[in-house]
Amino acid sequence: MELGERPFRADQLSRHYFGRLEDDIDQMTDVPAEARQRLAGGLLPPLLTVVRNVDCDDGATRKTLWRGADGTLVESVLMRYPGRVTMCVSSQAGCGMACPFCATGQGGLTRNLSTAEIVEQVVAGARSLARGEIAGGPGRVSNVVFMGMGEPLANYNRVLAAVRRLVDPVPDGLGLSQRSVTVSTVGLVPAIRRLTGEGLAVTLAVSLHAPDDELRDTLVPVNTRWKVAEVLDAAWEYADVTGRRVSIEYAMIRDVNDHPWRADMLARLLRGRLVHVNLIPLNPTPGSKWDASTPQAQSEFVRRLVERGVATTVRDTRGKEIAGACGQLAAVDAGPGEA
Ligand code: SAH
Repeated sequence: MELGERPFRADQLSRHYFGRLEDDIDQMTDVPAEARQRLAGGLLPPLLTVVRNVDCDDGATRKTLWRGADGTLVESVLMRYPGRVTMCVSSQAGCGMACPFCATGQGGLTRNLSTAEIVEQVVAGARSLARGEIAGGPGRVSNVVFMGMGEPLANYNRVLAAVRRLVDPVPDGLGLSQRSVTVSTVGLVPAIRRLTGEGLAVTLAVSLHAPDDELRDTLVPVNTRWKVAEVLDAAWEYADVTGRRVSIEYAMIRDVNDHPWRADMLARLLRGRLVHVNLIPLNPTPGSKWDASTPQAQSEFVRRLVERGVATTVRDTRGKEIAGACGQLAAVDAGPGEA
């Protein structure tokens, strides 16, 4: 290899990185001291540095603001629940999808994250857990959701390579189960079809937010390119091929998409499918004209879906007070100059 070392050295470093979650090269004592700096520097360069961690929910939720080597800012969120720990990761700095209710969507796309930058967010979370820095004692990451900044399927190759690092066993990866990794998309149909052919059983989440094209064209602008029917067709094909239940994300926006007739229309589209609806109370972004649905509108929406046999849950809003909840990861609060 380029660094003039034998291949088993790379294997050793992979075991340190993915298996022992080691980030201190001096602890890599199976590598000769004189070679450590050169090897670790070459194979495990620092890609993202922590700008700050913000904890809430009594220490069970941690948002991390990261800075890339070029000054780019991205965020990830670790959420500990009884029996599971979910890492919400970013796939891009910014996002080009321009959904009007999402904070990240307002700033446009800065750049794609690399595979290593995506994986590092998860490894860092796993490391904090292993070291007991998160309330609840030492633990492991069990789930990863691509619901941070960015549209994962618009950064397809890097995201797929990252997914493989997450699910491959040590030393090649973190050894997470495929089903516990969720890729969330606005509905880029060709990319969903490509994902269907990957032979991976990851969970697909589709951000639908409206059952009708007229409204969805405004909430998820890419709908003008791929309509509700096409997106759902691609989702059903994904469910058929992988056997995985597709998750439909639906932000509940007061008087915008939460009408009883829209619940009925949504139920008609989803009924009888391998599907699960995840209603997300809207987190209003600063300056937004929109608000979350009333509790009454939300329960009526749920009731209509459930009555028609569509499995439905309402997402909790972890991290709300640290702007770490869905759609709030915009990293607007820290310019590149701030330490
Ligand atoms: N680009 C991917 C990942 C985005 S974040 C996608 O669109 O699926 C994950 C989810 O949070 C998406 O369903 C997104 O629409 C939703 N979301 C974004 N902003 C939100 C907000 N302000 N309130 C509630 N949900 C929001």
